Amino acid sequence: MFIGAVDIGGTKIAVGIVDEDGRLLAQRQTPTAAVAGFDGAMDRVTELLRQCGEEANVSVQGLGIGCTGPVDPITGRIGVVDFLPGWEDASPVQVLGDRFGVSAAMENDADAASLGEARWGSGKGVDSLICVTVGTGIGGGIVLQGRLFRGVDGAHPEIGHHVIEPEGPPCFCGARGCWEILAAGPAMAAWAEIHAPKDYAHRHDLSARHLCALARQGDAFAQTAVQREARYLGLGIANLVTLFTPERIVLGGSVLQSADLFLPTIHETVRHNCGLVPFEKTTIAMASLGPDTPLIGAAQVWHHRFKPQGA
Ligand SMILES: [Zn+2]
Repeated sequence: MFIGAVDIGGTKIAVGIVDEDGRLLAQRQTPTAAVAGFDGAMDRVTELLRQCGEEANVSVQGLGIGCTGPVDPITGRIGVVDFLPGWEDASPVQVLGDRFGVSAAMENDADAASLGEARWGSGKGVDSLICVTVGTGIGGGIVLQGRLFRGVDGAHPEIGHHVIEPEGPPCFCGARGCWEILAAGPAMAAWAEIHAPKDYAHRHDLSARHLCALARQGDAFAQTAVQREARYLGLGIANLVTLFTPERIVLGGSVLQSADLFLPTIHETVRHNCGLVPFEKTTIAMASLGPDTPLIGAAQVWHHRFKPQGA
């Protein structure tokens, strides 16, 4: 079983062929060039998928698509996406499915990645998990009993925008003090910008990545920034544990590449806050599919939709 995988992002579209065990056999990418139009992008995707098929010497038997959201997973149509102007209501599912003569399905890219981790990554063999990605934003997906959790009309829950501090900074989502505005990478940098001493030697680069590196070298201010970050990461994760009591929480994204710095405080916060649920049974693990997660996850979208688990 070979699945054509398509990951539609704001700047690039990646395509590939993924086998039944989640191995990526061939891949290509093209700039999204969203303003140049949906049709042209689908032409390029079609051509690149054909090239991948030739390279891997297989023909695709299904198509799985992950797309920056919001998307409607049920109709397969793209919603109003800032990064994809003019693509509203377009259906990659229909266009690509027709061209290759196979079944196709699409999910929000965070859900696609979560499905990939659930079946082929750190969630393998686990019944319920929540994937949390912390980078420039916080997103994720919830997989319960092997199935993607969907809200009303297929809506994707936004775990990054639950409120942690009602008096916190305002977020573009409309809330104040939501998890993302407090704990995503830019939040760590923004906090450091305000609180770093005027004569702080590293003011030129207060990015989350640099602060983590400085903290490892023993820099006291950076260690304070890391502690603050760990506390907010822990609060959000503890909330997820209390609300869903998942078997596993899988962490990914650029900020969580430094997870070892944050995990002691995350575990401590979970222990402290989750007294009414068996929190000790929830394991916290790192995402394991690596940089190809979006494509591997996109392929799993097809399996999740059309192939019963275990079949
Ligand atoms: Zn928000």
